[in-house]
Amino acid sequence: PQLNMKTNWFIMGYRNESTAAASDSASQAPPPVSRLLDLIVNSLYSNKEVFLRALISNASDALDKLRYLSVTDPELSKDAADLDIRIYADKENGVITLTDSGIGMTRQELVDCLGTIAQSGTAKFLKALKDNKDAGGDNNLIGQFGVGFYSAFLVADRVTVSTKSPKSDKQYVWESEADSRSYTIKEETDPQLIIPRGTRITLHLKRDEKGFADPERIQKLEKGYTKEVEVDDDPAESRK
Ligand code: ADP
Repeated sequence: PQLNMKTNWFIMGYRNESTAAASDSASQAPPPVSRLLDLIVNSLYSNKEVFLRALISNASDALDKLRYLSVTDPELSKDAADLDIRIYADKENGVITLTDSGIGMTRQELVDCLGTIAQSGTAKFLKALKDNKDAGGDNNLIGQFGVGFYSAFLVADRVTVSTKSPKSDKQYVWESEADSRSYTIKEETDPQLIIPRGTRITLHLKRDEKGFADPERIQKLEKGYTKEVEVDDDPAESRK
């Protein structure tokens, strides 16, 4: 199948039950998510909405990586031709889901990339923020730097990342709660959540931030930094 080279953005409302997988077989992984979370929350408190740009930017990178690797290995994109990013806002349950059909992550990549804040873009952002402050600069770095994946915890108290890399037969779910400072990784077992390739990030919003789970609000925020937006309110789309 022909690769769709255009990135499509969809924002839709959906009313289905929470997409979080059951965590019965969760295995506790060793390194803590980190105390740096407090710093993130304090530094970015008045700019919480940056989480959306961070996640869209990661999703967009994941699509780019797949496009790039598909040039030499067309097999990589055979399972799902469309390269797109979709955002579902579930007002009722206060859940935002962001899916991309990009490169995904293996179990090891989940550990390496999301296992500790130290390796994440969020840590780089915090370092830049500190260096800038030490040099007497203002705090206005948000526009210039990616704030990284962990900014999801500005608005969510639980984040689930279900991801399938073409390098792996299995789909894995990384989950962390803002308070727990640790994470779990298990295999995705819910047949409804199995994807051919890519990543599904589910943000279970904090009680005071549930207002972000609004397709109109998401669309407004997102318009500032993306090229194309497609709005689709068909709830039947939400499981795809
Ligand atoms: P940065 O994007 O600056 O590297 P992040 O903390 O945002 O930092 O993300 C860390 C890493 O996690 C990324 O570099 C990437 O390897 C991986 N990652 C994050 N989101 C995705 C995604 N949607 N698909 C594939 N990999 C991802």
